[in-house]
Amino acid sequence: MNNAAAIRAAGELLLSCGVAELPIDARKLLVSRGVKVMPYGKAKGEKKAALEKLIAIIGARDGFTIMDKSGRYTVMYSESGECAERIGFTLAHELAHIALNHEGALSAAGERLSREENEADAFARELLAPAALLLLLPKPLTDNDRLIFRLSNAAWKVRQQKAAEDRLLEGAELSARLAERFSPALLGRVCSYCGAGFSAASAARFCPICGSEEISRGAHGIRYSGIETDENGRAKRCPVCGCEDELTDDSCPLCGAPIRNRCPVCSFQADGSARYCQACGSPTAFYAAGFLSDWHEYGQK
Ligand SMILES: [Zn+2]
Ligand SMILES: [Zn+2]
Ligand SMILES: [Zn+2]
Ligand SMILES: [Zn+2]
Repeated sequence: MNNAAAIRAAGELLLSCGVAELPIDARKLLVSRGVKVMPYGKAKGEKKAALEKLIAIIGARDGFTIMDKSGRYTVMYSESGECAERIGFTLAHELAHIALNHEGALSAAGERLSREENEADAFARELLAPAALLLLLPKPLTDNDRLIFRLSNAAWKVRQQKAAEDRLLEGAELSARLAERFSPALLGRVCSYCGAGFSAASAARFCPICGSEEISRGAHGIRYSGIETDENGRAKRCPVCGCEDELTDDSCPLCGAPIRNRCPVCSFQADGSARYCQACGSPTAFYAAGFLSDWHEYGQK
């Protein structure tokens, strides 16, 4: 086992468990595998004394995993004075030991192998913030981006430092599958005013449908209709004269109508349904030309 195998195991686990939302809930993943998850504080009396002794021996300040006689795992973790982000990482780290069949973490008094610790950390950061997803975020990454994955400041720093390296270990095929699965959660935005759902690879300040600034991350908004565009953002046929040939410019060669839904102010390339520029809030070329109905009227026809 090595970091590459650990990272791939984390990616495959994410894909196989059907999760598509962010942040990843490591506790849920543990519980769904039949693992008992218990904070240190739950141990009372004799059990507490035994636990404290055990923690001192194995040096498990944050958490550790034990297996009972029937083969059932329990993850114990420290909750006092720890932020939710750090606990989440600890649980992901312990899930790694279980998923990777690590020996050291299972023998209560056994020495923790640094190789296994490295693998568990690699697994945990990949599980919580797959390297493939960092590539999809607008650059430069900000401290706020760590909230998407619910990582602590320290874990987010390491995640960023190792993103390129981990992305190579992931491999192109797994990266593509992870990106496909999580891009709606990662890039999806929902407008709380008109309910529109849209995708924003770059910074989105305005709703492209109603122009509101009340937008938040989410994958389940309404899809408003618009003009069908190609991969370059050009209408497949001219919305005015229906011309389908030689649409290689920003306007129709026959009638001069705009066929690319750009923002006239900042040149942002909007998609075919955008009434407003998501970067600056100005009406788009298609909306200004009257090709798109006002969002209020949408659905009334
Ligand atoms: Zn560990
Ligand atoms: Zn809106
Ligand atoms: Zn035309
Ligand atoms: Zn603009």
